[in-house]
Amino acid sequence: MAISEREQRGLAIAALCKIDKDPKEGVWLVPSQSGGGKYKVINDPENERCTCPDFETRGKTCKHIFAVRYTIERELHADGSETLTETMTVVKKTTYKQQWPAYNAAQQAEKRRLQVLLADLCRTLPEPDRKGIRGQRPHLVKDSIFAMAFKVYCRLSSRRFGTDLLEAHERGHISNPIPGTKVTVFFENPAFTPILKELVAKSAAPLATVETEFAVDSSGFGTCKFERWFDHKYGVTRTRSIWVKAHIACGVKTNCITAVRIIEKDTADCPQLKPLMETTRQSFTVNEVSADTAYASNENFQTVADMGGTAYMTFKSNTTGAKGGLFEKMFHFFQFQRDEYLAHYHKRSNERVFGGQAQVWRCRDEHERCRHGQRSAVQISLPESLLFDSGARRAWYRAGLLEE
Ligand SMILES: [Zn+2]
Repeated sequence: MAISEREQRGLAIAALCKIDKDPKEGVWLVPSQSGGGKYKVINDPENERCTCPDFETRGKTCKHIFAVRYTIERELHADGSETLTETMTVVKKTTYKQQWPAYNAAQQAEKRRLQVLLADLCRTLPEPDRKGIRGQRPHLVKDSIFAMAFKVYCRLSSRRFGTDLLEAHERGHISNPIPGTKVTVFFENPAFTPILKELVAKSAAPLATVETEFAVDSSGFGTCKFERWFDHKYGVTRTRSIWVKAHIACGVKTNCITAVRIIEKDTADCPQLKPLMETTRQSFTVNEVSADTAYASNENFQTVADMGGTAYMTFKSNTTGAKGGLFEKMFHFFQFQRDEYLAHYHKRSNERVFGGQAQVWRCRDEHERCRHGQRSAVQISLPESLLFDSGARRAWYRAGLLEE
């Protein structure tokens, strides 16, 4: 009979560690394997418990409980008789080695490299026609976009960011010096929103050779814009912050953001998948798309199928699947081969996708920190799609896109 991995680890703990019973509390103290400290195991046959995180999350027998069981068993057979006849296979935990030289090189060069890539991306942006318009010329579109994206990357207040921007000018990345405080004004200009969105897609496009699997997700964030509303119950006027929601499509390997939609928070999630994937498809081959329950609809399954791919979306617990079409087909797949289905679905749950979300949060923080009101959510993710996280940076190295 094979024994489970947890049981094996429990056996190893029982064999290698000193497990004592606390005479006062009547609990067993099992040393933690990952650090200092001890977990308490209550060996009540009716209700076995452990204080470790594994037990807390799963609520099932953890390795510490197994270790205590083996210890008790050993004590019962203190005369030397053997009851354990099972053979133990040691399962080695695979850990992935960090490629330190590439990682270091990538991090050290990142800020410089980002500016080069960003300036390159902005260079071809068209300037509006100002023929016949009098008055002071505004900053160039390409300079403004550069300044905004670079500010989000630097994560500094507009005054402190001023130095970075002046240096960028000295290096020739922008054509005119721009004071840091001026950049907050750019963020309030809705004319930049479509340009930024287009650049998000454009900056991800070089990864078309690497990415064929995508995840769609969303995150809501508050803006500094407030609205007044009348509370009928209490007969008073109140103010509340206006929320928006950013929906993103991102590649699961490099975490590059391939499309963004920023909409009012109360708008339905479901209809956002189609336009996101349509934008993505302009540069990428779409083989797989994973998304959560909020996006699961017959139309969305069909949209991805029409692109030649398969969508893996989870279903609400009360779904019956009696909707026909691809929805029903995938629902049965989900019901009867759940492990296989979830293996596809969980591609979206890898660290990198969450890393991508973390970067979206980061933009959100930036967003909240800015003091000027009236902000539109334009600043999301442009530098992120240029340089993502460390894992993606290594992928860029391997793909020969970042050479330093
Ligand atoms: Zn435990």
